[in-house]
Amino acid sequence: MKLLRYGAAVLGIAALALFPIAIDNPYYIHLLETIMIYAILLFGLDIVVGYTGQVSLGHAGLFGIGAYTAGVMVMKLGTPLLVTLIGAIGVTALFGALLALPALRVTGPYLAMVTLAFGTIIQILINEMTFLTEGPLGIKLTKPALLGVRLDERQFYWLVVVLLMLSLFFVHRVLRSQYGRAFEALRGSPVASDCMGVSVYRYKVYAFVISAGLAGLAGALYSFSEQYISPNTYNFELTVLFLLAVIMGGRKTRTGALLGATIIVLLPKLLDDLELFRWVSCTIAVFVAAGAAYLLSRGKTTPQRVAVPVFGSIALAGLSFVLTTMTDWRLSIFGLITLFVVYYLQDGIVGFVRNALNIKARPTDDAELVSGVAGSGDAVGTASATAPAELLIASGVLMQFGGLKALADVDLVVKRGTIHGLIGPNGSGKSTMMNVLTGIYVPTAGKIDFCGASVIGKTSSAIALSGIARTFQNVQLFGEMTALQNVMVGLHHTFGSNLIDVALHTPRYRRENRHATERGMGLLAVVGLADLAHEEARNLPYGKQRALEVARALALDPQLLLLDEPAAGLTAPDIKELIAIIRKIRDHGVTVILIEHHMDVVMSICDTVSVLDFGHKIAEGDPAMVQADPKVIEAYLGGETATFAQPA
Ligand code: ADP
Ligand code: MG
Repeated sequence: MKLLRYGAAVLGIAALALFPIAIDNPYYIHLLETIMIYAILLFGLDIVVGYTGQVSLGHAGLFGIGAYTAGVMVMKLGTPLLVTLIGAIGVTALFGALLALPALRVTGPYLAMVTLAFGTIIQILINEMTFLTEGPLGIKLTKPALLGVRLDERQFYWLVVVLLMLSLFFVHRVLRSQYGRAFEALRGSPVASDCMGVSVYRYKVYAFVISAGLAGLAGALYSFSEQYISPNTYNFELTVLFLLAVIMGGRKTRTGALLGATIIVLLPKLLDDLELFRWVSCTIAVFVAAGAAYLLSRGKTTPQRVAVPVFGSIALAGLSFVLTTMTDWRLSIFGLITLFVVYYLQDGIVGFVRNALNIKARPTDDAELVSGVAGSGDAVGTASATAPAELLIASGVLMQFGGLKALADVDLVVKRGTIHGLIGPNGSGKSTMMNVLTGIYVPTAGKIDFCGASVIGKTSSAIALSGIARTFQNVQLFGEMTALQNVMVGLHHTFGSNLIDVALHTPRYRRENRHATERGMGLLAVVGLADLAHEEARNLPYGKQRALEVARALALDPQLLLLDEPAAGLTAPDIKELIAIIRKIRDHGVTVILIEHHMDVVMSICDTVSVLDFGHKIAEGDPAMVQADPKVIEAYLGGETATFAQPA
């Protein structure tokens, strides 16, 4: 399989390189060149859209900035090629950081609107800043010179091939590293990323900056390729085309980006030429019908589901023979085809083919290159025991949501090396306490000191890195990532290598990656998930997902671990295993705060228990004492009796 892939890659590169020699037609050379330039941009757009899950309608604007930076540098300063390219990448990357700012505040449709506005403003600026950009007149360029030799059409084409390969290589490596995992994590669960010490803020900016850098490179190459740039190229239509290309090709795949670029360059040409359109639409109809027949015969689909695509593509083929001219129909057909692809192939064409042929997506991670690593026994770090006995001191914590005091004047002291239970009826403020401790909410009033330093006002990721890890009441895994990758996100803090280390696979990166993979496998072994390391988190059974969250939290090497109802929804044997795991964690010197409804669990492992009711702490002490406290019994009898009525 690996050999096959390398073979295909070599063949592909050879075909690309030999194309202008085999087909000596400037029109086709230019067409392929455009596809490659778009592909470079799409690699970057996929980072933002496919990996971090943000919408960007600003990429045509970024593309324009790259093109114009190159154009202006050459026209005004006569810069050499290399300087021009670096300048275009740098300037566009800066604008990428600017575009990231709204993404830090809004998501979804709002972000789409803001990025769209960004693109529009860029276009207007290019138009209006005549002194720099020549305005609507545009800028004329010649092909650049490299090492003193002016490149001809073909040589420039080869330059684009080389830069495409370099971009592919760079993007691929970055996405397989801790950076790629961070990007994917913030799509999977922003809250969990932050609580794993992976700052959503920072990695969103990184994603936009890298993405913009690639758009800048693509823009600069485009300006040389066209030898003329003008403002109205970088319009709304282009930005939508880019987004469609990523969606149609399939997100999170470089093949998809290449395919998407090919489609958006060729489809409009195809719709210009009636003969070609007839030919292609018939081919498509035959393929769709054959594919549907295959899937039906295998029982993989139902006649109802394939009816629309089959009849649709046959109707399109029929229509192509009825039409005598394309001009009036171009846009409608283009719209229909894209609508069709987006609706029926939600994983894009690459995803669809993978599904149909039952090919599993390739491991997207360097971690999985290191196979068969034995789980090391001491994966759970050992906390030092020399520090003062109180690890966490919270006093007078008030958390107000409007008129509701979810926490009212709560004091909590957690001793090092203990398991501290936090119980109380539903809605009593337990989870709110965890959210306050981990910086998700900033308390309205009160003090929280962890290891002698205040956590109030610190970001969740800073708090996580200072040694507080947690799990969530509603499991917050990174669903599309494997179990090992989830844990490796928790190990993010162990990586110091930068983008260059990652792109070049320097010894430093290799070392860090190997260590992290080994630790990750070790942690999975601790919670009994070693066999499922390469399974996507969303496919794990519920109990395993909970265990995975614990492993991921441990990856942070925390001093304090917060577990929010870890036994909820688990079967009896799973609960037993969980208790053993929590004990093991405590024995390694990690302090635990445990929120739990199962009283048998609380009674059997907690050293101290605090009880909350309507945001007030009503009792505290050793488990047996608390359980006998009339106030506690009253609180529970008022709420749910069932869970409390079964002592250990
Ligand atoms: P539990 O003890 O069951 O974990 P929670 O801490 O989740 O309770 O909730 C305590 C109270 O605070 C509940 O009444 C809940 O509705 C309220 N609450 C929690 N988070 C928010 C929020 N973000 N906005 C408004 N009310 C909230
Ligand atoms: Mg809760």
